[in-house]
Amino acid sequence: MCGVVGLIGEDKAGEKLFPALFALQHRGQDAAGILSFDFSRGEFYLEKDLGLVSQVFPMDKLEKIKGSMALGHTRYSTIGTVDKADLQPLIVSYPNGIGMAHNGNVTNYNEIVEYVRKRRSRWTFTRNDLELLLHMMSIGVSDQLEAGKTLSAEVMAKAAQQVVEKVQGAYSVVGMMADEGMFAFNDTQGIRPLLIGRKLDQNNKYSYCFASEKQVFFALGFEYFRDLKPGEFVFVDKDQNFHSFPLSEKQARPCMFEWIYFAGAETEWHGRPVYDVRLRLGEVLANETKRKMQEQGIQIDVVAPVPDTARAAALRLAEVLKTPYREVLIKNRYVQRSFIVNEPAVRKAMVNLKLLPVESEIRGKNILLVDDSIVRGTTSARIIQLLRESGANKVYLASTCPPIRNPCFYGIDFPEGEALVAHQRSEDQVAELLGVDGLIYLPLSELKSAIGIPSMCSACLDGDYPVSVSKADFINTRSHNIGGGGKNEVNP
Ligand code: SF4
Repeated sequence: MCGVVGLIGEDKAGEKLFPALFALQHRGQDAAGILSFDFSRGEFYLEKDLGLVSQVFPMDKLEKIKGSMALGHTRYSTIGTVDKADLQPLIVSYPNGIGMAHNGNVTNYNEIVEYVRKRRSRWTFTRNDLELLLHMMSIGVSDQLEAGKTLSAEVMAKAAQQVVEKVQGAYSVVGMMADEGMFAFNDTQGIRPLLIGRKLDQNNKYSYCFASEKQVFFALGFEYFRDLKPGEFVFVDKDQNFHSFPLSEKQARPCMFEWIYFAGAETEWHGRPVYDVRLRLGEVLANETKRKMQEQGIQIDVVAPVPDTARAAALRLAEVLKTPYREVLIKNRYVQRSFIVNEPAVRKAMVNLKLLPVESEIRGKNILLVDDSIVRGTTSARIIQLLRESGANKVYLASTCPPIRNPCFYGIDFPEGEALVAHQRSEDQVAELLGVDGLIYLPLSELKSAIGIPSMCSACLDGDYPVSVSKADFINTRSHNIGGGGKNEVNP
């Protein structure tokens, strides 16, 4: 999962993406990059590196990124070690010069590599899905130009049509064509988010912004315009004219995990505010908890969130149960990625520092811990142990997400089912493994009605995959391409 953003029609667009990338930092902390294009000089500027946005872009670097069109990326590695060659944005030189950044996964990776290399004689140099999307876009435009067409919004849309017909998966893409303008498209079912913002300038023209989340528009002083539709191609030309082309008629299947965990609480997607959904999840989870409390004679003294994503749900749950809400775990916001510390003892101390117990609120209490989801279960087990060591009498765990039993092949980092704590295990078995006195999961039907979108991707919960994929091929492809290892955990 990553954050993407694009901006056209603004002076110093590259510099303006700096706050935008901060607004998307939670979507990826491994690396960041900005690519810009200066129409007056006809030049691209690219800066990207490993690290947080603040580390990658000191002011002197930002000043070098010139022009009124720019796109940016925050990277979260779902695939592969963090290799500098894989960092985004990426560019190709023909036709014109195309730059792109994306969020998501290509699921027919082998097939597309084969097509690009063997049938179209273009080599690939990275292990990043984006390189395939970029080549496919370039091939699509080249085919049109070689058929005698001139570069236009229609030609770009036809090229994108070719891309979405061949490249399967879940992806949102923002790109730019040198001298021409900025484009955005997504997979035909819109599994990954991309929103459009705009701002009227003094010449009565709109500048446009594309972003994974809505708070970017607030940061840049833009208004939210609308979501990119599933299978839609949008092109904003250099004169800031907005062109839209439908590439597919398929029904939207947005990823439910955006509302559960991944998206910032301040964003909205499909008109459903994330914070409001999380409150609603807390409310229905409270009803489920009440039922279990009555059935099993459970007494709860305090409701506490696992920071930070579960806060809204825990708050609402506590209100409904009329039980005190307490913060029993404090997240140290200054501890960054702990794997960069080499000394094991220091690294362990850094991991311990990430979540610290508030013993005065824990000792002797029956605590209902609320988490957004339980993926691998390792963090949950560690937290439960921490609460017990801090003197908790009983520890119960409630999850706003139903059991995650199946892998995700669409860009959230759990492509191997066996690593999931709920994979082929009953709820009682999961509770035992985690070491809790009781476990409450939100039922899938309640989750669906709380989010309130008729058709979503919930494949990791129910196995109904919107894009078919062979798990064996997917894993083989990825391990072959990455040389093994290096995966980072999402909400482990
Ligand atoms: S499988 Fe789960 S995490 Fe992956 S896209 Fe679907 S809902 Fe989201």
